Amino acid sequence: MAPNQKKSADSEYAAFEFHTKKISIVGIGRDILDKIHKFPFPVQQMLGAKACAVEGRIEKGKPATGLTSLDCSCLFYHFYLLLCRYIFHEHMYSITKLLTTSAWRRFLQMFQECGFEVYIRREIVKVDAPEKTKAERASDNQRKVCYK
Ligand SMILES: [Zn+2]
Repeated sequence: MAPNQKKSADSEYAAFEFHTKKISIVGIGRDILDKIHKFPFPVQQMLGAKACAVEGRIEKGKPATGLTSLDCSCLFYHFYLLLCRYIFHEHMYSITKLLTTSAWRRFLQMFQECGFEVYIRREIVKVDAPEKTKAERASDNQRKVCYK
Protein backbone atom coordinates (compact mmCIF):
# COMPACT_ATOMS: atom_id res chain seq x y z
CA MET A 1 0.00 0.00 0.00
CA ALA A 2 1.31 3.50 -0.84
CA PRO A 3 2.08 5.60 2.23
CA ASN A 4 -0.71 8.07 1.44
CA GLN A 5 -3.26 5.33 1.03
CA LYS A 6 -2.13 3.74 4.25
CA LYS A 7 -2.47 7.05 6.05
CA SER A 8 -6.01 7.61 4.87
CA ALA A 9 -6.96 4.02 5.65
CA ASP A 10 -5.56 4.54 9.17
CA SER A 11 -7.56 7.69 9.75
CA GLU A 12 -10.66 6.10 8.31
CA TYR A 13 -10.19 3.22 10.66
CA ALA A 14 -9.65 5.63 13.55
CA ALA A 15 -12.89 7.42 12.64
CA PHE A 16 -14.68 4.10 12.42
CA GLU A 17 -13.39 3.07 15.84
CA PHE A 18 -14.26 6.46 17.24
CA HIS A 19 -17.92 5.87 16.44
CA THR A 20 -18.33 2.13 16.83
CA LYS A 21 -15.82 0.77 19.35
CA LYS A 22 -17.33 -0.09 22.69
CA ILE A 23 -15.65 -0.36 26.03
CA SER A 24 -16.38 -3.33 28.24
CA ILE A 25 -16.56 -2.82 31.97
CA VAL A 26 -17.44 -5.35 34.61
CA GLY A 27 -19.44 -4.33 37.60
CA ILE A 28 -21.45 -1.58 35.99
CA GLY A 29 -25.15 -1.98 35.43
CA ARG A 30 -26.24 -2.90 31.93
CA ASP A 31 -28.52 0.15 31.78
CA ILE A 32 -25.64 2.53 32.44
CA LEU A 33 -23.23 0.70 30.15
CA ASP A 34 -25.73 0.83 27.29
CA LYS A 35 -25.92 4.59 27.65
CA ILE A 36 -22.14 4.99 27.87
CA HIS A 37 -21.79 3.03 24.61
CA LYS A 38 -23.65 5.74 22.74
CA PHE A 39 -20.75 8.17 23.22
CA PRO A 40 -17.58 8.47 21.11
CA PHE A 41 -14.99 5.93 22.25
CA PRO A 42 -12.63 8.32 24.09
CA VAL A 43 -15.61 9.66 26.03
CA GLN A 44 -16.73 6.11 26.84
CA GLN A 45 -13.31 5.60 28.43
CA MET A 46 -13.66 8.70 30.58
CA LEU A 47 -17.22 7.91 31.61
CA GLY A 48 -16.29 4.29 32.29
CA ALA A 49 -13.45 5.37 34.55
CA LYS A 50 -15.76 7.67 36.50
CA ALA A 51 -18.44 5.01 36.84
CA CYS A 52 -15.81 2.56 38.12
CA ALA A 53 -14.46 5.14 40.54
CA VAL A 54 -17.73 4.88 42.46
CA GLU A 55 -16.66 1.42 43.72
CA GLY A 56 -13.52 3.01 45.13
CA ARG A 57 -15.59 5.63 46.90
CA ILE A 58 -17.80 2.93 48.40
CA GLU A 59 -14.77 0.95 49.59
CA LYS A 60 -13.43 4.04 51.32
CA GLY A 61 -16.80 4.48 53.01
CA LYS A 62 -17.58 7.74 51.24
CA PRO A 63 -21.28 8.54 51.16
CA ALA A 64 -23.25 9.64 48.13
CA THR A 65 -22.93 13.37 47.68
CA GLY A 66 -26.56 14.32 47.98
CA LEU A 67 -26.65 16.01 44.59
CA THR A 68 -30.17 16.77 43.56
CA SER A 69 -29.41 17.96 40.04
CA LEU A 70 -26.82 17.39 37.34
CA ASP A 71 -24.83 20.37 38.45
CA CYS A 72 -21.79 19.09 40.24
CA SER A 73 -19.12 21.49 41.37
CA CYS A 74 -16.14 19.18 40.85
CA LEU A 75 -13.28 19.99 38.48
CA PHE A 76 -13.90 17.10 36.09
CA TYR A 77 -17.51 18.10 35.53
CA HIS A 78 -16.61 21.70 34.86
CA PHE A 79 -13.72 20.90 32.58
CA TYR A 80 -15.24 18.14 30.44
CA LEU A 81 -18.93 18.91 30.97
CA LEU A 82 -19.35 15.19 31.51
CA LEU A 83 -20.81 12.91 34.14
CA CYS A 84 -18.43 12.58 37.06
CA ARG A 85 -17.98 10.01 39.83
CA TYR A 86 -20.18 12.04 42.19
CA ILE A 87 -23.09 12.02 39.77
CA PHE A 88 -22.65 8.28 39.13
CA HIS A 89 -22.40 7.63 42.86
CA GLU A 90 -25.59 9.53 43.58
CA HIS A 91 -27.41 7.81 40.74
CA MET A 92 -26.27 4.29 41.63
CA TYR A 93 -26.60 4.36 45.40
CA SER A 94 -29.26 6.78 46.44
CA ILE A 95 -32.91 7.30 45.73
CA THR A 96 -32.25 10.33 43.54
CA LYS A 97 -32.01 8.94 40.03
CA LEU A 98 -30.15 11.74 38.34
CA LEU A 99 -29.50 9.90 35.11
CA THR A 100 -32.87 9.98 33.48
CA THR A 101 -33.31 9.39 29.77
CA SER A 102 -33.45 13.12 29.18
CA ALA A 103 -30.31 13.68 31.25
CA TRP A 104 -28.36 11.21 29.11
CA ARG A 105 -29.78 12.82 26.00
CA ARG A 106 -28.53 16.21 27.15
CA PHE A 107 -24.95 14.94 27.40
CA LEU A 108 -25.15 12.97 24.17
CA GLN A 109 -26.47 15.94 22.26
CA MET A 110 -23.42 17.93 23.17
CA PHE A 111 -21.26 15.49 21.18
CA GLN A 112 -23.71 14.89 18.38
CA GLU A 113 -23.93 18.59 17.67
CA CYS A 114 -20.28 19.50 17.66
CA GLY A 115 -18.18 16.45 18.56
CA PHE A 116 -14.91 17.37 20.24
CA GLU A 117 -15.23 20.94 19.06
CA VAL A 118 -17.12 21.41 22.27
CA TYR A 119 -13.69 21.46 23.95
CA ILE A 120 -11.93 23.40 21.22
CA ARG A 121 -14.49 26.18 21.54
CA ARG A 122 -13.84 26.33 25.24
CA GLU A 123 -10.13 26.73 24.51
CA ILE A 124 -10.80 29.62 22.14
CA VAL A 125 -12.85 31.35 24.79
CA LYS A 126 -9.88 31.10 27.12
CA VAL A 127 -7.46 32.54 24.56
CA ASP A 128 -9.79 35.46 23.88
CA ALA A 129 -9.65 36.56 27.49
CA PRO A 130 -8.11 40.05 27.75
CA GLU A 131 -4.34 40.05 27.96
CA LYS A 132 -2.73 41.24 31.09
CA THR A 133 -1.54 44.80 31.02
CA LYS A 134 2.17 45.55 31.20
CA ALA A 135 1.79 46.72 34.77
CA GLU A 136 0.06 43.48 35.80
CA ARG A 137 2.74 41.39 34.15
CA ALA A 138 5.43 43.43 35.85
CA SER A 139 3.82 42.92 39.23
CA ASP A 140 3.55 39.17 38.49
CA ASN A 141 7.25 39.09 37.77
CA GLN A 142 8.00 41.00 40.91
CA ARG A 143 5.97 38.53 42.94
CA LYS A 144 7.91 35.65 41.40
CA VAL A 145 11.15 37.34 42.45
CA CYS A 146 9.85 37.83 45.97
CA TYR A 147 9.09 34.14 46.36
CA LYS A 148 12.64 33.12 45.49
ZN1 LIG B 1 -18.66 16.14 39.83
